[in-house]
Amino acid sequence: MCFGVTVRRVDMTDPANVASAMGPKTRVVYFESPANPNMRLVDIEAVLRIAHQGAARVVVDNTYCTPYLQQPLLLGADVSVHSMTKYLGGHGDLTAGAAIFADAELAQRVRLHGLKDMIGAVMSAQDAHLVMRGLKTLTLRMDRHCQSAQKVADLLQSHPATAVVHFPGLSTFPQHELAKRQMRQFGGMIAFELKGGLQAGMQFMDALQLVTRAVSLGDAETLAQHPASMTHSTYTAQQRAAHGISDGLVRLSVGLEDLEDVLSDIAQALDLVQHLAGLGQPVEPAEFSVGPA
Ligand SMILES: *Cc1c(COP(=O)(O)O)cnc(C)c1O
Repeated sequence: MCFGVTVRRVDMTDPANVASAMGPKTRVVYFESPANPNMRLVDIEAVLRIAHQGAARVVVDNTYCTPYLQQPLLLGADVSVHSMTKYLGGHGDLTAGAAIFADAELAQRVRLHGLKDMIGAVMSAQDAHLVMRGLKTLTLRMDRHCQSAQKVADLLQSHPATAVVHFPGLSTFPQHELAKRQMRQFGGMIAFELKGGLQAGMQFMDALQLVTRAVSLGDAETLAQHPASMTHSTYTAQQRAAHGISDGLVRLSVGLEDLEDVLSDIAQALDLVQHLAGLGQPVEPAEFSVGPA
């Protein structure tokens, strides 16, 4: 409860969970698809049908897809929000956000009262300029992110060090059909789980030479993040598991570099993880791994 608003968290991969969580006072249904960090999808049209039976507005965080790959407003959503820090800017050099409204009157209220008066979130001129510039190459960049990510996902899936690869473009992805229905292409984000858990995750991160260890996404550079040793290191393993974050889970934001360079860096890091597992490498007590800059 915050500002008198009660928040209910539900697993929206099954729209039935949304239906049972809806109450007479539900005003907003908010989700992202694909969701961070394990790439689960939400059936946007199914959730819209449920939410719009009542008075709830639907807000979709469309950051992972950008408007080029997925257009929630055309499906009937009320608001589509983006971290422009990611693909829309596209170069990892700005912080900005956008909310796109189906209802112009609501947009005005949020803009003038909510944004300007209540929180003062006004973008700098430099950030605005960089977003405008990034947008000019959005489709070119997204095509490349998507093509490269498909190849990286194939490599990951074929490697013995990985247990499972979460990428909407793989035919083995449980929601592949839904992805084909609501996404134009499958995006540049991949999550995968290493068989060796926490230790393998840290070894993989430490072994990367081209790929950068970073929590952001949608940059020109390929970025890797290992939640168990980074963003979610303060959670217990049980808490992480409850959020579907296994200790060997690694998230990749596939960048725009030469594809062969990206593939060979990831392959050598996976090979090393596999090699160390074969040696029965003892578990290191390190809580946080520090790798090459
Ligand atoms: C990064 C991110 C945000 C937050 O955006 P900032 O621009 O970093 O404030 C919100 N949603 C998703 C899906 C993101 O990836």
